[in-house]
Amino acid sequence: MKKEKYFQLNQAAVEALAEKYGTPLLVLSLEQIEKNYNLLRTHMPRVKVFYAIKANPHRRILELMRDLGSNFDVASDGEIMGLASLGVDGSRMIYANPMKTVNGLRACRNAGVGKMTFDSAGEIDKMARECPGATALLRIRIDNSSAHVDLNKKFGAGREQALELLQKAKAAGLDAAGIAFHVGSQTTSADPYLNALDIAREIFEEAAANGMQLRIMDIGGGFPIPEPKVRFNLTEMLKQINARLDEDFPGVEIWCEPGRFICGTAVNLITSVIGVTERGGQPWYFLDDGLYGTFSGVLFDQWDFKLISFKEGEQVAATFAGPSCDSLDIMFRGKMTVRQEEGDLILVPICGAYTSASATTFNGFSKANFVVWEDVKGEVPDASPAKEQ
Ligand SMILES: *Cc1c(COP(=O)(O)O)cnc(C)c1O
Repeated sequence: MKKEKYFQLNQAAVEALAEKYGTPLLVLSLEQIEKNYNLLRTHMPRVKVFYAIKANPHRRILELMRDLGSNFDVASDGEIMGLASLGVDGSRMIYANPMKTVNGLRACRNAGVGKMTFDSAGEIDKMARECPGATALLRIRIDNSSAHVDLNKKFGAGREQALELLQKAKAAGLDAAGIAFHVGSQTTSADPYLNALDIAREIFEEAAANGMQLRIMDIGGGFPIPEPKVRFNLTEMLKQINARLDEDFPGVEIWCEPGRFICGTAVNLITSVIGVTERGGQPWYFLDDGLYGTFSGVLFDQWDFKLISFKEGEQVAATFAGPSCDSLDIMFRGKMTVRQEEGDLILVPICGAYTSASATTFNGFSKANFVVWEDVKGEVPDASPAKEQ
């Protein structure tokens, strides 16, 4: 696989930023966000991007994506109103939560959001009542046990119900316009997308045979970012998906909903070792960020973060724990690392998706501060952060 460059601070930058802003500190690269967005646009030129903001709703990311012309995937009244307050028009949002709240639908009405997804008959009535005439895509279930996080365990109508649900939506006065799916987060091969597109195409044909011309195909999110011990070829993956779209969905409007892919590689965490102890012959390192904070992704997203130390030496298996008084607050056991001491800094690259978004202030620990790299790099001695990794 071709080596890609991702935003990764060097030692001088980490030390200078930790000194100036304290830790735990999240450093966001807007340039990396823009690169990620452009990469999808380049490889899938027909595809309209809806950024799934739940992965990282930091205001600066939303403002940049707004200015780049992106659209947004939202799932709640809070996300809709948040974007509206940043000046994003409702026509640029899709309410892609198949199970919607009345508050969410009312926020759609207020903000002018007319696109949504559904996967059950009960939702049809709700949408027709609260947002008459809305454009509704049927979310279908896809089997993909290889996904890192398989959303199909919770969402999606079965293939056999598809036509009936689409017809029902149309009969209720909705604009039943197409199909949506989500292959599952961090999907590292094109196959699940291609399988899903096969099913969607069947439904398009079945609908056409019954007098319904579907016109929108939403291929969801799931596009992968680098992960320890996982190999994939992103450009090849996108090429295959794009080729299939051209072959099987000519003239159809194509949407996608990337979350992780847009923000995952754009954030670095700098965290400090606050204490060291030894238990059962293994070193334990306590960090100032933990499972209730940025590392919430370990729990909610089953993510294995890479920890970078700027020290040299023999690698030992260690336990890494967070700062709270809860015994659940342990991020990694048996993680290989050089020996650490109190005050040492650890850099966690690729820390932007499903991290700060699900952080809490449990036990009185503040969430990690955020700085934007492009705002602060002038303050750092050697401001060349990115390197091969
Ligand atoms: C979470 C979510 C996404 C984003 O998924 P990623 O795997 O982060 O790309 C997109 N669409 C829907 C409906 C989601 O729930």
